[in-house]
Amino acid sequence: MATKKGGVCSFCGKKSSEVRLLIEGLDAKICEKCAEQAYLIVKEQFGNSGKGNPLSGFSLKKPQEIKAFLDQYVIGQDEAKRTLAVAVYNHYKRISQRVTDDEVEIEKSNMILVGETGTGKTLMARTIAKMLNVPFAIADATVLTEAGYVGEDVENILVKLLQAADYDVAAAERGIVFIDEIDKIARKSDNPSITRDVSGEGVQQALLKLLEGTVSNVPPQGGRKHPEQKMIPVNTKDILFIAGGAFDGIERIIASRKRSNVIGYSSDTTEVLDKSNMLQYLAPADLKKFGLIPEIVGRLPIITHLNPLDEAALKRILTEPKNAIVKQFQKLFKMDDINLIVEEGALDFVVEKAVEFKVGARGLRSIMEAILSDAMFEMPSEKTKKELVVTREYAEQKLNKSGIAKLHAGD
Ligand code: ADP
Repeated sequence: MATKKGGVCSFCGKKSSEVRLLIEGLDAKICEKCAEQAYLIVKEQFGNSGKGNPLSGFSLKKPQEIKAFLDQYVIGQDEAKRTLAVAVYNHYKRISQRVTDDEVEIEKSNMILVGETGTGKTLMARTIAKMLNVPFAIADATVLTEAGYVGEDVENILVKLLQAADYDVAAAERGIVFIDEIDKIARKSDNPSITRDVSGEGVQQALLKLLEGTVSNVPPQGGRKHPEQKMIPVNTKDILFIAGGAFDGIERIIASRKRSNVIGYSSDTTEVLDKSNMLQYLAPADLKKFGLIPEIVGRLPIITHLNPLDEAALKRILTEPKNAIVKQFQKLFKMDDINLIVEEGALDFVVEKAVEFKVGARGLRSIMEAILSDAMFEMPSEKTKKELVVTREYAEQKLNKSGIAKLHAGD
């Protein structure tokens, strides 16, 4: 399909001069009005549920439904969930309502999630993609470099998305890309004239084009581009980019901005800051100060933060999400007809160790794995024992003799 000057619409007979857009197919042309009609017919035929609808492929849930879906998988992080739900809703609303009569074009809103590692940033992006049933790719910003340097070109982000979409370009073009560790490509100084940090700033510039929306020529198998290679053009204008990063030390930047703000005003505007969670005051200016170039910050207009996970949250993560770690082990044991019961005390112990080892939510699984490892080896062969009750004592004893405990003993 291509747009062409000249000709008439094969459906309504209007000349190209009478319409705003004329799209050319193999033997026919269609104007934007007829395309819209056709779209409405298809929509009516298949409904807007997404089932069997070749145009949507996913159902557009309302923000509250999106949040409810996230709640099944992600513990806590209410504010981030709400923000993400609205952003995703608006994004896909924008895509599905492309054909409009008025001149108001809704701009794309990519977003940035700021929070310590292991607080659920990737999980949230992944869960949203699962809900929408759109292709999803995770790109690690740390391996990206400016074209010409050793490392990966930014286009490789799109290779992963294409692969996730089984090379269905149209599907990839409305997918979601999670760019992890965006903070690692920050400029080391926020004064560009002092330190021109090529690696950071150059990558940010390259990334900017993708975020804004561009037709990027993607080498299908990834790697470096070379002249003979056949490229796949991918339009990024409807791809939702969600960037994530820990931004270590940004609390200090936030605090200093807040302090200098306060000095300029009369005392009654002085707000009491909750020092235990400075991220809640995060603003675009802080990201710039941290070293993201202003253009990038401008292209990630939706900013939200994730809270550090406390012990209560970690305990909930073990048991509550739809695919909670304990539920997964129970399922594994059930396959051998073994009933696995993990007592409260044992759960508390796992959480205490995750905090002690400083491994957060990410480490919960390996701790559970270490505790259950003996049982998983022995019990499938035992004919009589069909139940395992993991008490705190059992957990302590198994973990202490495991490699993990030894590994952290030297800390
Ligand atoms: P990051 O913030 O570094 O992207 P991830 O989303 O990759 O962290 O989290 C790592 C793992 O920890 C997840 O796969 C999940 O098992 C668990 N996890 C982290 N945060 C949460 C949360 N809020 N709710 C449920 N599980 C979580």
